[in-house]
Amino acid sequence: MVATYCDETEPDYSALRLAMVRKQLESRGIRDRRVLEAMRVVPRHRFVPEVRRYAAYEDMPLEIGYGQTISQPYMVGLMTQMLEVQPTDRVLEIGTGSGYQAAVLASLAREVFTVERVPELARRAQQTLYELGYDNVRVYEGDGTHGLPECAPYDGIIVTAGAPHVPESLKQQLAEGGRLVCPVGPRGMQHLIRIVRRADGFCEEEGIGCVFVPLIGADGWNEP
Ligand code: SAM
Repeated sequence: MVATYCDETEPDYSALRLAMVRKQLESRGIRDRRVLEAMRVVPRHRFVPEVRRYAAYEDMPLEIGYGQTISQPYMVGLMTQMLEVQPTDRVLEIGTGSGYQAAVLASLAREVFTVERVPELARRAQQTLYELGYDNVRVYEGDGTHGLPECAPYDGIIVTAGAPHVPESLKQQLAEGGRLVCPVGPRGMQHLIRIVRRADGFCEEEGIGCVFVPLIGADGWNEP
C-alpha cells in the first residue's frame, strides 16, 4: 500500500517572526525598541496571500495582487523608525497595500489613517485589520497624493509608494513637529526622504536608496 503524507501543521510563525527581527532588523541597525517589539508581535503572515505565507518572514517584498507588494520587513522597520511615532500620535499612511505597515503603526500610535487607491486591496486590508482587532486604524479608498485633509493635521505621514516628489498637500497636512517619510526619485530607484515641520519651515534629509512600486495619482505618476 502506498501511504500519502500530507503535513498540515502550520509553521511556527512566532519563532520565524522573532528570527526576522533579530536577523533582518536588529543586525542592520534598527534600534527603536518600540518598533522592534511591534514587529515581533504583528502577524505579518496574515497580511500575505495564503499561497505565499511560507515566505512571509523572508528578507524580501512579496506580491499581494493587483501588481502591488507588501514591503520588505527591513524597509518597514526602517521607515517606521524614521517616523519616530509616539503613543499619542495620529499618523497618516499613503499606500495601505496589505495593511501590514498600518498594523505596525497602530501598535505604536493613537490613531492611524491609511489611504489605498486599489479598492480591492483597501477592502481586503480593512478586513484583515478588523479580524486581528486593530480598532484604531481607518482605511480609506482614493488618491492619497491629496492626503486626507478632513482628518489633518498628522504627527506622522508615511508614503509607502515611490513618488516623483513629495506631494505638497502632504507637507501641508503635517502638524508642527510632525515627521514625513517618503521614497522619492524616478520609477525603479528612489531615496527615502524625511521631512520635519518646524515653526519656521521644513527641514529635509535624505536616507538610503530603495525601490518601491509607483505612487500613482494627481500629484504622483501617471497610470502605468
Ligand atoms: N504599506 C503596504 C503594506 O504594508 O502592505 C505596502 C504598500 S505597496 C509597496 C504600495 C501601495 O501604494 C500599493 O498598494 C498601491 O496600490 C498604493 N498606491 C499607489 N499610489 C497610491 C495613491 N496615489 N494613493 C493611495 N495608494 C496608492
